[in-house]
Amino acid sequence: MPGLADRLPELADRLAAVRAEIADAARAAGRDPGALTTIVVTKFHPATLIRELYGLGVRDVGENRHQEALAKSAELAELEGLRWHFIGQLQSNKARQVRRYSHIVHSVDRPALVDALATRAGEPTAAENTVDIFLQLNLTDDPGRGGVAPAGLEALAEHALAAPGLRLRGVMAVAPLGEDPRAAFERLRAASDRLRALAPDARDISAGMSADFRAAVLEGATHLRIGTAITGSRPAPR
Ligand SMILES: *Cc1c(COP(=O)(O)O)cnc(C)c1O
Repeated sequence: MPGLADRLPELADRLAAVRAEIADAARAAGRDPGALTTIVVTKFHPATLIRELYGLGVRDVGENRHQEALAKSAELAELEGLRWHFIGQLQSNKARQVRRYSHIVHSVDRPALVDALATRAGEPTAAENTVDIFLQLNLTDDPGRGGVAPAGLEALAEHALAAPGLRLRGVMAVAPLGEDPRAAFERLRAASDRLRALAPDARDISAGMSADFRAAVLEGATHLRIGTAITGSRPAPR
């Protein structure tokens, strides 16, 4: 294992390279790079990596498993301004706990999960108790994949708009394997247009991973979820 001093420059270099590629894609699309949020996906990595990223200016990190995210957010509670994005499939019975440390949940895909994340009667609904959510779309034909089928988007959005304590930000998706990601993200953009007809403020698009973030930026993504291109390969899940 290389020590911290050996690893830091590499991490800094990868982060800088990805930032430069994102800025380049944004300019190619005629968009302002400063309007894009890059979430560094740190799943399976130790909290120390997040500390290093924070030192390099990263303020948005993504996690996909509740226990792991809870432990890391508790360990790193003193890192001011660090935002936790929950990006993984989420069981309704974990939603209350995830809401406590997550600023944004990207993987909301069914009414029961909306209800579980919403504030309850008697709880404060002030801004500081509000969680931002994305509605995850399933861009494959396999109903077993995470995400609501595109035809169900409006009904889920209506449900989310009526739920207290949630702020609907937009749509999220993962590009299906074996398909040109640009074509998939084009469908996501069309879904985003439909959502905005219902909820004009819900204009964000969470899309783009290490292998396809350029295509996502070209199709209007505002929140990129990038892991390995920045962190290097992931350790095996524990
Ligand atoms: C792991 C993960 C990512 C990041 O994937 P990389 O290929 O490492 O960039 C993005 N989004 C979701 C939902 C993930 O689970």
